[in-house]
Amino acid sequence: MAALTSTATDLQNEIAWTAATRAAVWGDALEYAPREGALLALVRRSSGVTRTTFLIQSAIAPEHGDLEHDKWGNVSLTAKYWNRAVDIVRRQDGLVGLCVLHTHPGGSGSPVWSGTDDATDQDLGECFLGVGLLPAGAPLLSLVASRGALRGRVIQWSHGAGKSVFNPVHRMRTIAPDVFEARRTIDHPRAEGEDVPAFADRSVRVFGKEGQRQLADLHIAVAGNGGVGSIVADHVARWGVGTVSLWDPDIIRDVNINRSSVYTFDDAGARRHKAPVLAEALRTFALQRDIRVRHSKRDLRLKSELPGLLDADIILSLVDDPRPRHFLNRLAYANFIPIIDGGNVIASSAEDAPDSELGVVENGAIRINTIGPGHACLWCSGHLDSAKLSRAFRTPEDKAADRRRGYVEGLGPEHAPSVMPMNSLTSALVELRLQDLIFMLSKHAVTELYYDMIPGTLAEVPRRRAPGCHHCHPFEGRGDSAEMPFADL
Ligand SMILES: [Zn+2]
Ligand SMILES: [Zn+2]
Repeated sequence: MAALTSTATDLQNEIAWTAATRAAVWGDALEYAPREGALLALVRRSSGVTRTTFLIQSAIAPEHGDLEHDKWGNVSLTAKYWNRAVDIVRRQDGLVGLCVLHTHPGGSGSPVWSGTDDATDQDLGECFLGVGLLPAGAPLLSLVASRGALRGRVIQWSHGAGKSVFNPVHRMRTIAPDVFEARRTIDHPRAEGEDVPAFADRSVRVFGKEGQRQLADLHIAVAGNGGVGSIVADHVARWGVGTVSLWDPDIIRDVNINRSSVYTFDDAGARRHKAPVLAEALRTFALQRDIRVRHSKRDLRLKSELPGLLDADIILSLVDDPRPRHFLNRLAYANFIPIIDGGNVIASSAEDAPDSELGVVENGAIRINTIGPGHACLWCSGHLDSAKLSRAFRTPEDKAADRRRGYVEGLGPEHAPSVMPMNSLTSALVELRLQDLIFMLSKHAVTELYYDMIPGTLAEVPRRRAPGCHHCHPFEGRGDSAEMPFADL
């Protein structure tokens, strides 16, 4: 099994921004057309194992005297604009750098770097990184955009060579509550032979070959490989997703078999871990025959696990513990990675009496939330709170004592009642939300879905972002400088 490591040659550079920031940077710079436009923005790093994402956090809109145009309409940024931007950078906390975008408004195809662009970026590297106008280690990025396409490069300063070195941006992600777009740039073309396999026929008839290529280009992480997580991972692999990462510290037990995918009584007998067994199975039936599957048996809240999570385009959170859920909630806002969080609960008169002959089902529900910039977070919508989180930190001994006292609410999922139909519906709803996010079928942001098991009804629950919520707003776009609730602080 491939560990969560890679060689430097695999390292991809991506940019990610919200749709609003993209409009404020790329969109506003195009307003100068037919002249060139330009704009500076704050950028932070989000460091994965196989990719570095440059998060374009916010635009620094040009003011009067910040831009100059020559008689041919070519733009240049004045010292006034650069100095103002450097002052703004210095006032931020955590490592932050600059991104400069300029436009070549003439064409709609992929723009081509001009000789002037090369010379300008060469000087920028020397001035900001070589001389050190930016803090050490701060990212410096140059983007050039036409109306329909964008191309970018990361500028680094080689002290040895005494010159700037450019590395291309390979991919771009744009996210908003109703938008998810991951697009390769011209500097990362698809390899020969990467075409859609013939056996994808039935889904090609839904989304076309381009849709199938889009799936093959995606990296989906499945956090929690229990009942729901194993079914979802099974399905996304069959669907044609190109890279799947799995996280689960648990061992397969005989009581798991009746509501999961893939796991067998042999696995339970051999006390195998869920994540590697699932990873092995996915390879046998994945539509994308060269699927890249990674797995981890570790708690995803460990510092060592974060870079692996930051490689994912979308994370499916199917964990049954509020602690990883809280961790992922923060990660979504900090790194511009949308997360679909799902779970179900059944209340029965038999839930604390495993020998009962009669079980009366009192209630049952499924909840699916999409979180990430623009959406209400799990704290905004009340699904995480301090009481829930602190209960999860109680030791097994404390919990046993709580049970003896008759205090059972929120004690965790160890013996939670669960059946296959509820797990398969939860999985299907998560997959349908995922499908909507990728292909934007509804063109509508659905923050929360609620299925009520007794009447059998499905409803959209309106959720608003809490303006003062300190679990989402302060972390937006902070990437590596976001403080994370690690398990090993
Ligand atoms: Zn140019
Ligand atoms: Zn919030």
